[in-house]
Amino acid sequence: MSSTNMLVDKFGRTVNYLRMSVTDRCDLRCVYCMAEEMTFLPRNQVLSLEELERLAAAFTRLGVRKLRLTGGEPLVRQGLVGLVAKLRQLPDLEELCLTTNGTRLEDCAAELKKAGLDRLNVSLDTLNADKFRELTRFGDVRKVLKGIVAAQKAGFKRIKINCVALKNRNADEVVSLVRYALDQGLDISFIEEMPLGKIDSHGRAAEFIASAELRKIISAYFPLVPSSSSSGGPARYWMSPGFDSRIGFISPHSNNFCASCNRVRLTATGRLLLCLGQEYSTDLRAVLREFPNDEARLEEVIVASMALKPKEHSFDITTDEPQIVRFMNTTGG
Ligand code: SAM
Ligand code: SF4
Repeated sequence: MSSTNMLVDKFGRTVNYLRMSVTDRCDLRCVYCMAEEMTFLPRNQVLSLEELERLAAAFTRLGVRKLRLTGGEPLVRQGLVGLVAKLRQLPDLEELCLTTNGTRLEDCAAELKKAGLDRLNVSLDTLNADKFRELTRFGDVRKVLKGIVAAQKAGFKRIKINCVALKNRNADEVVSLVRYALDQGLDISFIEEMPLGKIDSHGRAAEFIASAELRKIISAYFPLVPSSSSSGGPARYWMSPGFDSRIGFISPHSNNFCASCNRVRLTATGRLLLCLGQEYSTDLRAVLREFPNDEARLEEVIVASMALKPKEHSFDITTDEPQIVRFMNTTGG
């Protein structure tokens, strides 16, 4: 077992975090993430649970210490709890996390905790039932709220809410969301929308609202003090005196964070994406399937892929043309 991290890119950045999309399917259709009509991948193109496990093992041997399961909606993938239990046994893995829309959390939070999941992020863009249905096209916010309660009861600590902020669709909800997070002892992060995939529900440029503007809105109700704490990711955190919650802002447009990028992503089809906002990638599924017993070759290909990691994303929020044609659900957000 190698104790040194083998995953270093040509800019000297060490990659120790892998986000794995376990499915492109989802039970919601969030307006910023998917088109209303989606064609999902045939199942044989999606990595099997065994293939996901094999890849996770290879990445941890090479130095990855944090894994996040995402999608699509990871909790619609059959066998997900079993996968969590298997991944938890990887000897070098320090943190196993999951990002979910929360719709199925009420049923499986306790099982996930028991299987060894360390951390949960739950996406929630509004507390208003009508607005939630509008933004997800048919979701029921009550299910998500019950799911969060179930996760807290199951013993998950520092659950984080993720909210994609859209100027004319939910920016008026940010104060209610912050109040909810503070009251419930949850962390919360606001994300600037990224132009992934072509959507027709709104113009991305028209909906852009910078993190600094959100902070101004929130500060009128809850004073914000910058926090030095970090989750090792792109979020910059603030705290409100008297509360324990961290209030984060992920600002790909207004505050580029690429210089400290430590992550890569695996799509549901096994494409290793070196950057969310660029197309440089390696087809790991081909290696897995062509060489089912050759771990050394798999590791070599992963190490070599690091040379493809670009310096930074190339998102441009001033145009409505998607610079990246793949949707977030295939990418593994
Ligand atoms: N279905 C799960 C969920 O919604 O949490 C996991 C997958 S989802 C693609 C992961 C995260 O990406 C969610 O927090 C979602 O809000 C965010 N997301 C999706 N599309 C986005 C976009 N175009 N820009 C920024 N964030 C986006
Ligand atoms: Fe599904 Fe998550 Fe995309 Fe919403 S953001 S459509 S819940 S994958």
